Amino acid sequence: MTTDFSRARALFDLPDGVIYLDGNSLGPLPRGVAERLARTVTDEWGQMLITGWNRAGWMDLPRRVGDRIARLIGAEAGHVVMGDTLSIKVYQALASALELAPGRRVILSDTGNFPSDLYMAEGLCKTLGPDYRLVTVAPHEVEGAIDDSVAVLMLTEVDYRTGRRHDLTALTAKAHAAGALAIWDLAHSAGATDVHVAEGGADFAVGCSYKYLNSGPGGPAFIYVAPRHADTARPALSGWLGHEAPFAFDIDYRPGQGIERMRVGTPPVLQLVALDAALDVWDGVEIADLRARSLELTDAFIAAVEAGCPDLELATPRGHAERGSQVSFRHPEGYAIMQALIARGVIGDFRAPDIIRFGITPLFIGHDDIVQAAAILTEILRGRAWDRPEYKTRAKVT
Ligand SMILES: *Cc1c(COP(=O)(O)O)cnc(C)c1O
Repeated sequence: MTTDFSRARALFDLPDGVIYLDGNSLGPLPRGVAERLARTVTDEWGQMLITGWNRAGWMDLPRRVGDRIARLIGAEAGHVVMGDTLSIKVYQALASALELAPGRRVILSDTGNFPSDLYMAEGLCKTLGPDYRLVTVAPHEVEGAIDDSVAVLMLTEVDYRTGRRHDLTALTAKAHAAGALAIWDLAHSAGATDVHVAEGGADFAVGCSYKYLNSGPGGPAFIYVAPRHADTARPALSGWLGHEAPFAFDIDYRPGQGIERMRVGTPPVLQLVALDAALDVWDGVEIADLRARSLELTDAFIAAVEAGCPDLELATPRGHAERGSQVSFRHPEGYAIMQALIARGVIGDFRAPDIIRFGITPLFIGHDDIVQAAAILTEILRGRAWDRPEYKTRAKVT
């Protein structure tokens, strides 16, 4: 292993007394971000005013930052662009992919997918007409459900609840053999595990930056379009910044070259700057090392929790090939257990109906954190410390 994970950990500003196992929901603050943001606000926005678009290169940020993410997801440089939220990027990818599969009307996904992806697909089907349909099957039934009615296979590589990982390469190959396209949502895999969009043959990929990529709350999403589709995919959200010549202010739309056409409107400059600074933590990190360490840590956490907490049922696959970088357990009192854990400084999260979920983010989580978190969880379960009314009232965001 050539990656120095203690160096990576030192680049994060984590509060004392907290074991943060929620980097899969909102990544923590890397040390360089605040200063870089402050400089952008005062020196660029404050002093350059509108000339910052050219002088500070704001307009190129979506592509420049996209190239840094391309390395993390195994994509070709020049084929990833940032912007909007992930839900929007899902919609864009789906709309373009459906047009590339003329005559077919079915979007195939699984019941473990994140609801927003499914809602976007349903909404798009309604817009396109009564023949279009979203079909969902259980995650392990996806492979058998791919047939020649399918236009687009739309999956999230790592299940947000269970941490189960689909085989991107095998399922993409199966989709292609059936004449369908494959869209992969990398929300829980980019920055968490080894991802191979180009090698795996993905047609489109999307993902968010505020989870494992640490861009901060509300950071923009990314979209990848395979080079073979880059100049043919028609952008459904044809905003001015995806136009071939935005500043010609032409009244007719002409899509820009390649991935540029997936841009929509004005980029969120401050969030992109935060993300650009946050991506510095990846310098010197080998993705193969990240994956090896993630598996070591998730194995250790599963073993320690199972040894101490027989009442918890493991929801995450034991097989390495089927696991992302999170570990989840089921318990009917999962919500209260998580509140009791948070009160003890171990921050994970709860996903309805009964899942407690722990993001194991190798850049800043180490073996000591794993051992300590499992020990605290064991104490809480043995002493029924979760069984108090204040741990059972649900907040708006869970
Ligand atoms: C987190 C997540 C989202 C969230 O989408 P936003 O539009 O950024 O709120 C969507 N899909 C998946 C699979 C996610 O994990």
